Amino acid sequence: MAAVLSVNHLSKKFGNREVLKDISFDVNEGEVVCLIGSSGSGKSTLLRCLNLLEQPTTGTVLYRDKNIEESGLDLFHYRSKVGMVFQQFNLFNNLDVLENCTTGQVNVLKTEKEEAKKRALRYLTEVGMDTYINARPAQLSGGQKQRVAIARALAMNPDALLFDEPTSALDPETIGEVLKVMKHLAETGLTMVVVTHEMQFAREVSDRVVFMDQGVIVEEGKPEDIFNHPKEERTKEFLSRIL
Ligand code: ADP
Ligand code: MG
Repeated sequence: MAAVLSVNHLSKKFGNREVLKDISFDVNEGEVVCLIGSSGSGKSTLLRCLNLLEQPTTGTVLYRDKNIEESGLDLFHYRSKVGMVFQQFNLFNNLDVLENCTTGQVNVLKTEKEEAKKRALRYLTEVGMDTYINARPAQLSGGQKQRVAIARALAMNPDALLFDEPTSALDPETIGEVLKVMKHLAETGLTMVVVTHEMQFAREVSDRVVFMDQGVIVEEGKPEDIFNHPKEERTKEFLSRIL
């Protein structure tokens, strides 16, 4: 299987604090990898390193075999290929839904405006938000905002998407609609790395679960192995607390 992303002996320090320690793992084409672990274990920092929102202190991230820090891709282009969906949506609040989904295409990818609108509509339809094209983010529920954020990322024609707790800021009643969209994307074969506390989603949708604790990968494997037969004490302890 071809690796889309390959993390090799990555560590990250903030000052003297090492929050990621010798992390290595691959994300293969079409794979859905869920990152789980307690708050503070380093999941967001790892995801941010994959997107170069943080620079690794040592070690490398390869995107399709090229070191992302030396690939010659500018950051904006790299982030269109390996997109990110954030807990807090990060929509442009001064733009409407359609503009949120076209601005990156026009400004980064240099897509023609009409073509950008077409693509935006296609993905807004895919996430069920095509009837809200003129709405501002402030007029939308959390679940609707997150679906727009997902459409915006998809409109950039990504090779992989990173999700950092995409449902953690949502009201319980809108979590399901976002998870449903993500499940659909997984079924279409999109390569995804998902930090989540939604264990049911991880169990049902992911190909691989990576459990992190205190900056290290403690254990990784198929969801049924991690959830039903965890090998490591720390994994057992974490799962017994949350399941
Ligand atoms: P998680 O997403 O698993 O909750 P994070 O990656 O957010 O964990 O954080 C891991 C550790 O790194 C935490 O102790 C956090 O306080 C620390 N940390 C994260 N970002 C920064 C930063 N910009 N500066 C200093 N410490 C940070
Ligand atoms: Mg986090």
